[in-house]
Amino acid sequence: MLARLASAGLRMTGQREVVVHTIAGKSSSFAPEGLVDELRPSGVGRATVYRALECLERLGLLTRIHVGARQGYTVCEEGHHHHLVCRTCHAVIPIEAGGVEREIKNLAARLQFRVDTHILEFAGECADCLARAG
Ligand SMILES: [Zn+2]
Ligand SMILES: [Zn+2]
Ligand SMILES: [Zn+2]
Repeated sequence: MLARLASAGLRMTGQREVVVHTIAGKSSSFAPEGLVDELRPSGVGRATVYRALECLERLGLLTRIHVGARQGYTVCEEGHHHHLVCRTCHAVIPIEAGGVEREIKNLAARLQFRVDTHILEFAGECADCLARAG
């Protein structure tokens, strides 16, 4: 993530660097307000956190999560993909959905509708949480 930021030519100032380092360490989805609370002791204000989130989202390093127990963000790898979101532990598992997308685009084309953006997310329980629950 830090390498991709550097290649995007983003200047890392003190506070933004703290925010980015904290986000880069997240392995599951996180809520913006939780991040604000987490960074408050480091003297990082809410506006700085939200600006950094916006910036990282614009660069494609963060993606918004819409479904599941909480809405928030996840750190994202490169390339087009979608997410399985665990409602219990907030784990985010990337998946390809090329087959589904082609099918929807074909259906849309039949209706002479040109799709140019979409959201496709799935929420539920991950393998670890299912195992813990027995
Ligand atoms: Zn992703
Ligand atoms: Zn897609
Ligand atoms: Zn889970």
